[in-house]
Amino acid sequence: MYSDLALLIGGEWRAKGDAGCSEPVINPADGRILANLPHAGARDLSDSVVAATDGMRVWQKISAYERANIMHRAADLFRTRLDSIARIIVQEQGKVLNEAMIEAAMAADVIDWYAEEGRRAYGRIVPGRVAGVRQMVVHEPVGIVAAFTPWNFPVVTPARKIAGALGAGCSIIIKASEETPGACVEMARCFMEAGLPAGVLNLVFGVPAEVSEKLLARPEIRKISFTGSVGVGKHLAKMATRTMKRSTMELGGHSPVVVFDDVNPEQVADMIAAYKFRNAGQVCISPTRFYVQEGVYARFLERFSAYAKGLRLGNGLEASTTMGPLANPRRLDAMDMFVKDALEQGGKIRAGGKRYGNEGFYYEPTIVTDVPDHSLIMTEEPFGPIAPIVTFKTFDEVVERANSLEFGLAAYAFTTSIARATAIGDALQTGMVGINSVAISTPETPFGGIKHSGHGSEGGIEGLEAYLNVKFISQA
Ligand code: NAD
Repeated sequence: MYSDLALLIGGEWRAKGDAGCSEPVINPADGRILANLPHAGARDLSDSVVAATDGMRVWQKISAYERANIMHRAADLFRTRLDSIARIIVQEQGKVLNEAMIEAAMAADVIDWYAEEGRRAYGRIVPGRVAGVRQMVVHEPVGIVAAFTPWNFPVVTPARKIAGALGAGCSIIIKASEETPGACVEMARCFMEAGLPAGVLNLVFGVPAEVSEKLLARPEIRKISFTGSVGVGKHLAKMATRTMKRSTMELGGHSPVVVFDDVNPEQVADMIAAYKFRNAGQVCISPTRFYVQEGVYARFLERFSAYAKGLRLGNGLEASTTMGPLANPRRLDAMDMFVKDALEQGGKIRAGGKRYGNEGFYYEPTIVTDVPDHSLIMTEEPFGPIAPIVTFKTFDEVVERANSLEFGLAAYAFTTSIARATAIGDALQTGMVGINSVAISTPETPFGGIKHSGHGSEGGIEGLEAYLNVKFISQA
């Protein structure tokens, strides 16, 4: 069972694009074709902008209260289909079913969060300098949004962008990933069945560079939200400035994990190893550089390695599987490159280190030690199941090494000292920090990076503000 793929433009499902092009969607567990995905042609994209313009007019006239009701209905419908949507995610993306269920459940929560938050887009009255003058700060929807989402979280990332835009009163054209389109198609179906007016949500697919070029050239579109790699993010941000569009950029990371020697290393290794190999490491906030203080290094490494070696690779739909394949063959090549470079730099492979099986895109959970800080695995985002684990001596040293890259998305630290917890939380230069915790992504809290990892937040009250303009009205 897979999804019936189509484009959604102006409330109509189009099984074919006007140019007649399509591409196969591949199951990474066995390399087989799941379905053919239609591409939007130039006319489809132009139609989507016209539809979003009409949709925005209608959506703005609907009260925030009623908008929230429609969004809640969509979330409820989505929840009734969690199991089938999770199975679509597994087939097109590769993660294990349990993780896909968690992702889908979170997507429904995100929709509910923004539905409610849209009802709280409060303004304020500022006391005037002159008697009788009323100074009002009001929030208005930013306008039509163009959103681009990647393949690693096929519904929760689109949910953040769609629900953020809709909650704020905007219409949206979203280009979800061509490699994992089905789950987003099913989510769009829920919105339409929930009574979302035509044109408020439009879903397109195509050649990413062509779609973004065409959409970003359109002056009607006022905001772009992108999740993906740093390079593509910079390219899109540059294009967006040509028509002065606002942008939210959720880009890559290279998250340091700092383990101080006052912790129980086995306990920490169990928690962080499970988190590391979630979605086979293809998570932007995945822990990717492990700095462990010398006193607990050997015990931490032993326990972490045992966890990695105990993972069972296979199709994510099988109950015995604890780690699925990588999402595409590009990731396999990247893993080989990281391992080759690590070995050339004097690194040692403590677990894994190679591809697995004869079909599908599997890579063994891999642990590398003794790599220098300038090696590829310590400086470029791995986006896969490779964990470099190295030692450090002092607080100041590890802070400098953790902050040394241009990435600034997430960081983690483990300590039992309250003073050290506070100090490391302040010192790490990232948009999100988990201290003795990995719970840094919820609908209620801001999610986003700094430095080259991007700007703007998704989630929390900040996530709604990303889709709102501020207007000041001085009324005498
Ligand atoms: P990529 O850089 O080619 O693509 C990343 C995403 O951007 C994909 O979803 C792609 O469809 C989209 N994209 C690419 N060019 C585009 C364009 N001109 N306009 C609009 N969208 C465009 O790389 P990839 O092989 O798909 O992924 C590899 C790297 O991307 C990873 O190493 C990781 O750094 C990054 N990535 C980050 C996230 C994240 O959550 N931040 C998600 C997926 C991938």
